[in-house]
Amino acid sequence: MSHIIHRSLQSTPLTAVGARGIHIMDAQGKAYIDASGGAAVSCLGHAHPDVLAAMHAQTDKLAYAHTSFFTSEASEELASHLAAHAPRGMDKVYFTSGGSESVEAALKLARQYFVEIGQPERTLFVARGQSYHGNTLGALAVGGNEWRRRQFAPLLMDVGRVSPCYEYRGRQDGESQDAYTQRLLQELDAKFQEIGPQRVIAFVAEPVVGATLGAVPPTPGYFKGVRELCDRYGILFIADEVMCGMGRTGTLHAVEQEGVVPDLMTIAKGLGGGYQPIGAVLVRAEIIEAIRQGSGLFQHGHTYIGHPMATAAALAVQKVIQRDQLMPQVRSRGAYLMRALQAKFGQHPHVGDIRGRGLFCGIELVRDRASKATFDPELKLHARIKAQALANGLLVYPMGGTVDGRHGDHVLLAPPFIVSEADVDQIVNRLATSIAQVLAAAGV
Ligand code: PLP
Repeated sequence: MSHIIHRSLQSTPLTAVGARGIHIMDAQGKAYIDASGGAAVSCLGHAHPDVLAAMHAQTDKLAYAHTSFFTSEASEELASHLAAHAPRGMDKVYFTSGGSESVEAALKLARQYFVEIGQPERTLFVARGQSYHGNTLGALAVGGNEWRRRQFAPLLMDVGRVSPCYEYRGRQDGESQDAYTQRLLQELDAKFQEIGPQRVIAFVAEPVVGATLGAVPPTPGYFKGVRELCDRYGILFIADEVMCGMGRTGTLHAVEQEGVVPDLMTIAKGLGGGYQPIGAVLVRAEIIEAIRQGSGLFQHGHTYIGHPMATAAALAVQKVIQRDQLMPQVRSRGAYLMRALQAKFGQHPHVGDIRGRGLFCGIELVRDRASKATFDPELKLHARIKAQALANGLLVYPMGGTVDGRHGDHVLLAPPFIVSEADVDQIVNRLATSIAQVLAAAGV
């Protein structure tokens, strides 16, 4: 009986004892293909020798020094690296220990910025439905994942809510992609007007939606429109790239493909590739300059920010990505994965949508392709697919996202960037077998 408070209090997960490349091994010696990189974390796979060497070297030099006294070489070098590769002007970096912490820091930085420049009346955030931005109270408040929020709702700040950009379900019959995009932007504009634009701090959104919808990219021009609206009203745009960022979609930052520059951007998972817990917020320099000239102090902080072990590991991960030119590889392997998914599931009667960018792909299961009707949530198909895939030696990230108030079943794939075409074939075959076994067992 475990003394750990595991997420499920009714079962104990498998014990992982080792990992190499794209595989994780359990205590019984069984190997699993890590086709979701945990939760889009393990971008270089496991036990990468360059990262291990950098971590060993850092252990010998300096494990920890509190940031109220010291900065460290590893943190400074990582911040310079991130600034050099950031979207234009986003060259200030605030380190954290993960995604939720990054979102909390971004929300507070944005709020403090407006206080410092004499606009304290800006007190509200606007974010999208069916979104996930983390589990701490601030991040949970901006998130629009109702089943996660429900029991904590009285503790969460009010947030203006608009529809996600989710073409598969949001675009109406006969509506063009452009008309759909414009409709979403009008909705956002109307929400700003309803609240009073001068009261809004920031709009928060994931450029490619991960955990709640399963790799849903935006429609063309959506984020350009978001940027224009935010600029019109002096509202900040916070891009949450905790899951879709750091190369996952084939460019270092997903927003690059949208041709926009956010004001703040949260990153985490792929930053450290799972070798250490680390996240960061990239911030436009003017925001930090305003705070520097004002109170001169960001009113925030955690004990482990800029942890030298974490920044050294992340620096090594990012250097490997650059040295080995993994971005073109993510794009080509991603295209291969998408073709393999299309070939396997394109005609499947219960796969309604196949989508994604780079090595960040999702499929959505439906009871009926024509009506897009979801399966009965009681069937818990997503959870059964996860369990069956596990039995078949495959780690995938299934979700029961809320679709129009009902639960839909999605599977997210986010394999390490080092995945080969043969690995991709194996992943797609095992996934297809697992889905077929689950549907047969459910009598579908
Ligand atoms: N933001 C997004 C978009 C995420 O996908 C996640 C985690 O899945 C988070 C924030 C929270 O990150 P963490 O779990 O590291 O706190």
